[in-house]
Amino acid sequence: MTKSKTITNVLLCSKDNNLRLANITFDNQIIDIQYLISKEINWSEISTKELWQKFVSLQIQNGSTNDNNTIDGRYLLLMPGAIDAHVHFDTPGFEDREDFDHGSLAAVFGGVTTVIDMPCTSLPPVTNENNFDIKLEAVTGRSYVDYAFWGGVAGNDFANNNDISKQINDLAKKGVVGFKSYLISGMESFADLKEDEMTETAQKLKKTGLPLAVHAEDKDMVSERRDHLKKIGNINWQGYYFARDERVEALAVMKMINIARKTGCKIHIVHLSSQFGVELIRQAKNEGLNVSAETCPHYLYFIKDDFDNPVISAYLKTAPPVKSEYDRLALWEAIKDGTLEFVTTDHAGCDPEKEKKGNDFWQIYGGIPGVEHRVPFLLSEGFKRGRLTLEKTINLLSTNVANYYNLKTKGKLFRGSDADFSLINLWDNQTISANNMHSKNKYTPFEGKTFEAIVEKTILRGQLIVNDRKLFQHEKVGKFIGV
Ligand SMILES: [Zn+2]
Repeated sequence: MTKSKTITNVLLCSKDNNLRLANITFDNQIIDIQYLISKEINWSEISTKELWQKFVSLQIQNGSTNDNNTIDGRYLLLMPGAIDAHVHFDTPGFEDREDFDHGSLAAVFGGVTTVIDMPCTSLPPVTNENNFDIKLEAVTGRSYVDYAFWGGVAGNDFANNNDISKQINDLAKKGVVGFKSYLISGMESFADLKEDEMTETAQKLKKTGLPLAVHAEDKDMVSERRDHLKKIGNINWQGYYFARDERVEALAVMKMINIARKTGCKIHIVHLSSQFGVELIRQAKNEGLNVSAETCPHYLYFIKDDFDNPVISAYLKTAPPVKSEYDRLALWEAIKDGTLEFVTTDHAGCDPEKEKKGNDFWQIYGGIPGVEHRVPFLLSEGFKRGRLTLEKTINLLSTNVANYYNLKTKGKLFRGSDADFSLINLWDNQTISANNMHSKNKYTPFEGKTFEAIVEKTILRGQLIVNDRKLFQHEKVGKFIGV
């Protein structure tokens, strides 16, 4: 048991854009929240640096206590530690691209206290009990943040006549949050599923109650277009984009909605990128189907025209690709109205010198290492630009994720919850630069963009990990959390 500490003078979001000033006492869990003034403060009263400084000067200063048990919260925003439900930290297997040591360091600098790692970018992939044990052993002692795992069902499992039910049930017992599958995959070690295999997987998964997360782009449509374009020698971004445009996503999302309707399995569409996709999810929800979806910062910020910028063109490549302006606006609307449950990063790095180079856009690796930028991004572009309330922003970054994946002790500022906090300065700004990143490989399409939010401190189960923008706790104390 950690000795109890208090973080003083923090602003907590109470509702919408309202805040309350508080002290929080905690050990590894929250012990108590003491509100210092009964009045709620509306964001409009402190929205500029001048207004905020005036507010701070009016508070009764308790005198700064310098003992080890008190942390000065400096009247900054304290939110529950952010959770990124979609990262590829690649340990073990693809560690030239990313590993848990670096990925989790980037996470903690980005105000994230829990990540959920994908099953497909490990070798072996997390598709059975034995592979899960290998993964857990490889990761143990190498994370600055808490971590959960996705299980997976791959085309390889069907090709090898594996007992899919047993694999699913064994992994569910191990505590995976859900299962990931692809309708189109470029990975030999984690092949996609045919539609009937996807249906069978959903039927089997239904019994566990866990979600089936799917990369939704239609394989036949992509392959046909890609093969034709390659044959005629098209190697530019326009060809890649055309092969994977919004119709490709719409068709795949439709297939998954049908599978949800047929099987009753909980279906989650990862990295949704288009207005078509949003509309289909909205309709499925109205129909009462158990369907959900997420999107990522790059789909909320960039559009296909940005591929014309040679500085970021290769860095921006992902599958699915970013779409048009109306898709981008539809995604903002969808996170605002609750059609999409949360925002993840799909953090996936590579060595840019090796895999983000060359004239052939087909050959460029698709992936952005984004775990460090999501919290500042959404607070800045969502909340501070007035697109989202503060409450909604925090839900999209933390609370909704914890609720969806049943991470009971995470994502909330309640007595008894894990003392996972991100302390955010909303009155300072930062210019994003690869040089400041902590992931193994450092590049970002957000290079040079300014976000009006900075993570000042990150606290994991009561332990100060990042303090005043610097690593404070060098020991990797992150733990596996099963559900
Ligand atoms: Zn992914």
